[in-house]
Amino acid sequence: MEFISTRGFSDSVSFTEAVSQGLAPDGGLYLPLEFPDLTPFLGTWENLPYEQLCFEFFKLFATDMDPSILQDCIERAYRKFSVPEVAPLVPITEKWKVLELFHGPTLAFKDFALQLLGNLYEAQIARDGKNLTILGATSGDTGAAAISGLVGKKGVEVFILYPNGKVSPLQERQMTCTEASNVYPLAIEGTFDDAQKTVKEIFADLSFREEVGLSAVNSINLARILAQSVYYLYAWLRLGPDLRESTSFVVPTGNFGNVFAGWLLTKMNVPVHEFRVATNQNDVLHRLFNSGEYSLSEVSPSLAPSMDIQVASNFERLLYFMVNKDSVEVREIMDTFRQHGRYCFEDFTAGGFSSCRATDVEISELIHKVWKNHNYLVDPHTACAFKDLDPSQDSVILATAHPAKFPSVYEKVQMEIPKSPILESLLSIEPTKYEVGVDTDSVRSFILDKLAK
Ligand SMILES: *Cc1c(COP(=O)(O)O)cnc(C)c1O
Repeated sequence: MEFISTRGFSDSVSFTEAVSQGLAPDGGLYLPLEFPDLTPFLGTWENLPYEQLCFEFFKLFATDMDPSILQDCIERAYRKFSVPEVAPLVPITEKWKVLELFHGPTLAFKDFALQLLGNLYEAQIARDGKNLTILGATSGDTGAAAISGLVGKKGVEVFILYPNGKVSPLQERQMTCTEASNVYPLAIEGTFDDAQKTVKEIFADLSFREEVGLSAVNSINLARILAQSVYYLYAWLRLGPDLRESTSFVVPTGNFGNVFAGWLLTKMNVPVHEFRVATNQNDVLHRLFNSGEYSLSEVSPSLAPSMDIQVASNFERLLYFMVNKDSVEVREIMDTFRQHGRYCFEDFTAGGFSSCRATDVEISELIHKVWKNHNYLVDPHTACAFKDLDPSQDSVILATAHPAKFPSVYEKVQMEIPKSPILESLLSIEPTKYEVGVDTDSVRSFILDKLAK
């Protein structure tokens, strides 16, 4: 199968090339040239265990990988989850079911993609002999999930910058208590934006990039999207024939990666009633779906920090379909947006979506309400999905993180603080972190120094 860039200036590539490049050379995002029709498979896929469904699905895309290696990558990734269903579907009312995506090693849905991506990288290195250096900046969740997915992988060294003292103590432990010799958490003096800026500058240094085999693990990687499509399909198959076409998926959303992964199934002829995009007070997408205006805004820190974004980086993939795969128009729209910080769509039509927005006050209220009415504890991100949710609409609500990741929120709303044995076990491990200057030179020489070891 071939993969093409949304901006149309890059050559088409194979699956493994799209995975190792992440972003296309023309700045666009990779998508399959043509989508497989899943209709003939759905009957036989109905009762497959999670890992097997994932394998059958990925086989259609990863056509340049040896199937037995692909299968091994997938099995090892999901064996690390703490429940055999991997993504359990839990009914909380007659109409509502929660799809629990927090049973992976770092207790957030990002594990679905990053555990698999780590194994895919390793397989690729074993095949090509080219080592990879992963560099990223994090404000918490992504760094923890990326590190966990890459711990101990042969041929991969991982450098993650984070603002010292500005990530939650739990998130810091998740990054620094791995005891892995290929993982370097760099605590920098500054903000997340300072860390991000340094990372971008280092990526812009093409000779350094080539020299150390630099790669990123951000949410624009196509393998991350496809890995996330699988749990939508798994849930859809488990709904049973009478509910499949009438059920909505409700998705706590930041960069639009998660919900886009679900929507992609509709391109493969899996009929879904609707995708409901739930945002926090950083509501660039809620505004887009309501008014057709896509515009930059300041990030305002919320109780659901992993959804605190300024722009939704995966939106470009939906845009590509909205303009009927016209790369020229994608480029024009993205250019206008870059220059003016906003773009207004005349008659905006992104069929199949609705949206909602929850402020911090509403998040606190929703956590209480869902607990009181349904005896189910949601984390602050998942809480947003319950805003104005129609009780008579069949819905699958994606639970994106385990409540135990956000102890301070429950303290604030005066509820018992949830616990997780995985997080408790980190307390007995001595953290390892490196304090490094935030300037590009310091980070670059730190990387070279460690790679030379
Ligand atoms: C990353 C994250 C999100 C947002 O997902 P996107 O794919 O960026 O839309 C929501 N909830 C949690 C807990 C997350 O970690």
